[in-house]
Parts: sequence; structure tokens; C-alpha cells
Amino acid sequence: MNLYEYTASELHEKLVNKEVSATEIAKDTMDRINATEEKVGSFVTITEELAMENAKLVDEKIANGEEISKLAGIPIAVKDNICTNGIKTTCSSKMLMNFVPQYSATVYERVLKSGMTVVGKVNMDEFAMGSSCENSAVKVTRNPRNIDYVPGGSSGGSASSVAAGQATLSLGSDTGGSIRQPAAFTGVIGLKPTYGSVSRYGLVAFASSLDQIGPMGRSVTDVANLYTAICGADKLDATTSKREYPDFATLLNSDVKGLRIGLPKEFFGEGVDAQIKESVMTAIKELEKKGAVLVNVSLPSTDYALSAYYILSSAEASSNLARFDGVKYGFRAENYDGLNDMYEKTRSEGFGDEVKRRIMLGSFVLSSGFYDAHYNKAKLLQQKISAEYAEAFKVCDVLATPTTPTTAFKIGDKVSDPMKMYAGDICTVTINIAGLPALSIPCGNVNGLPVGLQLIGAKFSEQTLLNTAFAYEKIMGTVSAVANL
Ligand code: GLN
Repeated sequence: MNLYEYTASELHEKLVNKEVSATEIAKDTMDRINATEEKVGSFVTITEELAMENAKLVDEKIANGEEISKLAGIPIAVKDNICTNGIKTTCSSKMLMNFVPQYSATVYERVLKSGMTVVGKVNMDEFAMGSSCENSAVKVTRNPRNIDYVPGGSSGGSASSVAAGQATLSLGSDTGGSIRQPAAFTGVIGLKPTYGSVSRYGLVAFASSLDQIGPMGRSVTDVANLYTAICGADKLDATTSKREYPDFATLLNSDVKGLRIGLPKEFFGEGVDAQIKESVMTAIKELEKKGAVLVNVSLPSTDYALSAYYILSSAEASSNLARFDGVKYGFRAENYDGLNDMYEKTRSEGFGDEVKRRIMLGSFVLSSGFYDAHYNKAKLLQQKISAEYAEAFKVCDVLATPTTPTTAFKIGDKVSDPMKMYAGDICTVTINIAGLPALSIPCGNVNGLPVGLQLIGAKFSEQTLLNTAFAYEKIMGTVSAVANL
């Protein structure tokens, strides 16, 4: 087995036992990146020098007999909307193509503090708007399980890098499914944490009330360890909760006896591919065999989920993206006639079509005369959606659903039809609207492409989600291995 194929916890063992050095791990991962990147296209920026420096520090610590963290020396890829001091952060947009932040996101500081080896910044849909990574102004990223297919989005590069063995772990961001959907499409595990558990400081905002950064990996323990490293209060983000968090991985428990798993009927309806439903139900039945109890529940407002999500997220995006005006950040058009013309040309040339679509939709739903009819209604729906989840969690501990209605689609299949693209987000968006945590774990294949089982919990119930996923992983032996490329 090559080093890049191991999980983080296995690599940690090897480091502590001095079987390998962090430098060897970093080199092996760099070789893997060099061997596969042309095929997969995960990266916007490869940070080889930094990776080697990070690794060297860990090796010095080990040589001095110092204790190292569970993530020290573990290769990580970081989504390109997370600010990294001194390293380009493009959001895969022409607007920020040469933007080098002078400060770091809190999550990135925490990643560095735990001694991780940063291998690079990874591709995404422009400003995190999309479900296929095809909206990137940088490149197309391919699904390592089958390179004719999309890796999902918007955290497509975060997912593909982990599935391809180009990184052991990665960070993505999730506003309406952008961690879970690409995790499902590429056969890795992805956790979208409770809103307010991970700092958004230094995350380029898409929809501030929905955005959360989260971990992706190939084992539940690894995901739990990265989540433990990044979560927690941050004085630079007033929306972070002040609660104390445990070391999630040490508390992992695979006993699901008596665990009440809710099955919301709206997530198993007509729009979801029959073979996906079958894979997901097979996985749920495995948990039932171990003593979990299945409960039927209903979340009727799911019918309005996409409308509510696209109104709320676009409204916030139209406001957040107003800052990209050619004055303060990044790109400015070359030829213009006066200030207004400069704004217009900069924004026309700097943003891609999908981003412009969202800004227009968002400005429309917030405009006077239409605000009550659209934005306010979506806000009311948000309350209703949250209330329905709260009801469901009175009778169950966790909800289980498909992560996506279909498996990965072919590159190019949906780019010209935004409504079709949006429809694929039906299983993930309400979780962000209600601020809940959810995790996607691979549960089989349909026509050679991975299927994701989504576990949804009440606020701050990450341990329950991780435990349930851990139980499933134990039943299966392993749920995610590096793709053959
Ligand atoms: N696919 C959804 C969208 O395009 C979700 C994106 C995300 O979670 N960042 O908005």
C-alpha cells in the first residue's frame, strides 16, 4: 500500500512509531498529485514548498521527542474560498484570480496549528455557486471514480482530491449541500457542521446565514479529528457558539441499539432515483439489524425547499458580492469611462454567468415591491422548515435520507440548464436553512458511481451523526478507498 492510501489515523500511528516521517508522507502525496492531477484537475494552487516546510517541522518535533497532534503531518487540501495568508485565494473566479490575502481564516490557522501538511488550494464552483464544479473560471475538475463525470460541487476539488489520494483530508464549505453532495458523488465522507460551530472568519461569504466550513475524508475517525481541530468559539466570528466541544474521535461509539432513525417520506419520493433509494435503504437496514429502530416521519415543507433556498441564498449573495467592485479587491476592467462605467465593466467581465444570475435574482427578491412577496415568504418558510425538523427530532435521534436524488452526472450534461442543476440540491438545502448538522457517507454504487447516505441531526448533535456513521463503517469494514487512476 502507498502512503497516500492510508487514513490519517493510520498515518499518525506510523509517525508515532517512527515507521515513516512526515517528509516521506508529504513526498508520497506530492508524487500522487503529480501522477494524477492532469487527469483529475483538483487544484488551483499546489503548495509543495509549504507542504515540505510543514512536514519538516513535524519531523523535528518527533526527533526532539515532543508529542504531536493527531493531525500533524497529515496532508490536507483547502477549498479556494478559505483565506490563506500569502497564498492565492481565488474562489475560482476571474474577480479574485490574483488575490493574495494578508490574513488567514480561523480554520486555516487551526489547521496549521495542528501541524497539518498543506498540499494546496482546491477548485470549486465560482464563489461556491453550483453543484458540479463546472462554474469554475479556472478549470474543470473530474470525478476520480469516472473521469467523464462531474465531482459535484461546489466543493468539487475538496472531494476529488481526497477521493484521488491527492490529500488525506480536505476542507470544504457548505451553503446548501456543497460538502455533502460532492462527498456523495466521489465516494468520500463529508460533514456539514451545525451553523455556528465552525468559525466563518476568513471564508469568502456566499450566504452568511447558511455557510459553514466542514471536513471531508475517507474514514469517520479522520473526519471527527478534523472537525475537532476546526470547531469552537472564535472571537473573530460573533456567530460562533461559546459551548465547549469534546474530542469527537475519542468518543466514537458504534453501538446503535435503540437509536431511533427517522425516515422522512419526502426524501424517498418520486424525484429520487429508485436505485439510490434501494442503496440507502439497504444501508439503513444494516443499522436496524444492529438494533436501531426505524421511525417514519414527514417534513412537508420540503416541497418548497428549493424555492426558499434559492431566494434566501441569492438575496444574501447579492449583498455579499457587492464588495467586488474593482476598488477594494481583485480584478478591475481595463478600459472604462468614469466610476459607474468602471463598476459595470468590472462586474460584467469579472463574474461568470451563474454568479450574475444569483446577483440578479437576489437583487430582485430584495427590491421594494417584491420583498414581501418573495424574501419575506422565504423567511417564513425557513421558520416552518425549522419547526418541522424540531418536531421530527422529538421522535427520533437522527434522520437518514439519500444525499442526492441521482448519482454524479456527465460533464456538460446540466451546464446549460440551471433549473435542472438546482433540482439536484433537493435533499441538502433544508439542512442549511434550519442550521442543522448533516453528514454524507458512501453506501454503495449505482452503475459504478458512488451513492451517499445522508444523516441529519438536531443542532450540535455531531457526535450522534459521527457515531451512526462509525457504526455503518464498522459494519462495512471500510466505506471509502482511494480511486484507481
Ligand atoms: N448547489 C448549491 C448552490 O448552487 C449549494 C452551494 C453550496 O453549498 N455552496 O447554491
